[in-house]
Amino acid sequence: MLKELFLNLTILITFNYLFTLLFKESLSYKEDRLMFQLLKGTVCGLLGVFLIAFGFSYSDSIIDLRNIPIIIAALYGGWVSTAAAFAIIVAGRILINFNASAIFSIAAVGVIAILSAAVLRGKKPDHKMAFVMLLFSNVIFTLTLLFLMPEQPAGALVYYWLISVLGGMLSLYIIKHEADARLLFKQYKFQANYDFLTGIFNKRKFEEVSRVLYDRASQSPSSQLALIYLDIDQFKQINDQYGHYEGDQVLKELGARLRFLLSSSDPSARIGGEEFAVLMPNCTYTKGLHLAEEIRHTIDANPILLTSGDTIPVTVSLGIAHYPTNTSDPRTLPLIADRMLYKAKTSGRNQVCSTEKKE
Ligand code: GH3
Ligand code: MG
Ligand code: MG
Repeated sequence: MLKELFLNLTILITFNYLFTLLFKESLSYKEDRLMFQLLKGTVCGLLGVFLIAFGFSYSDSIIDLRNIPIIIAALYGGWVSTAAAFAIIVAGRILINFNASAIFSIAAVGVIAILSAAVLRGKKPDHKMAFVMLLFSNVIFTLTLLFLMPEQPAGALVYYWLISVLGGMLSLYIIKHEADARLLFKQYKFQANYDFLTGIFNKRKFEEVSRVLYDRASQSPSSQLALIYLDIDQFKQINDQYGHYEGDQVLKELGARLRFLLSSSDPSARIGGEEFAVLMPNCTYTKGLHLAEEIRHTIDANPILLTSGDTIPVTVSLGIAHYPTNTSDPRTLPLIADRMLYKAKTSGRNQVCSTEKKE
């Protein structure tokens, strides 16, 4: 018996890794989509069938850890997942060996499924309650075993409890640890590449993407590339008058407007406090100028609503540089765009500056 239960334990641990590999960080929050819930339940159900198939057969009964996948389905899925896991486990148990004992064990799993789904129905997985459910399911299985096999030696029950509690705890720990680690990894990856305020690229990622586009453009003489630098006018005054928090709302709104105006193939970023950049591959000089003017006009013509309810006018100055119009080396585009932005600032702000001259 110990051998079979140990086998169950190893199947369970292997499954934990596959389960987190399949559902990744989504396990940190319960996913509501029906298909997703069904999939989680199906996977847990199949695990249950595996555990039964490799379980310990004693007279007509099979002793295994099938209660754990039910708890996992309820913990990380919901009603649909638990019902799907239950249905598959029932089908598996019937196919493997259908007899009177199977009916009792199915009833026991049914009670565990209903209770697990009811107790673990929150939006976030509740691991403490899952542990309580694990102990409770062991009690139910013990009672079922005592009922089906009154002559069962006490040692078998001790083994069952040890392996079941160990397997259950390990499962809960491994899945939670992996899901949390994946969630953190996703968050850090986002923070490494995106600006948390505006949701567009940060300076580091923008430079990485730009470098690739500059290299690509310099290798193909027919390609074109436009770079826009944008800086909010008198932003310090907005901060001074309305506070930093409202200043942040202005930055967020500008990020949203840029995302709205730009195509998804044009990388945009917040490259400084109140400075933005847009890179447009395969863009002619005229098209780039036109887009820069459209950005300027959209911001100028639509005052920004602050959280206080005030609406304030905001303007921006833009500088644009184009390859090959302004340079034969795309890597010098930032210098030219910066110079054009400075010109826009010193020429009265709320305007786009460019040059048709080649350096
Ligand atoms: P100009 O028209 O010449 O660009 O004037 P300006 O006031 O916009 O430029 P200046 O460089 O004097 O000031 C920029 C301000 O942007 C100062 C700084 O406090 C503010 N700022 C930088 N980063 C952030 C941020 O993340 N949030 C907020 N709210 N303000 C920021
Ligand atoms: Mg600035
Ligand atoms: Mg500014």
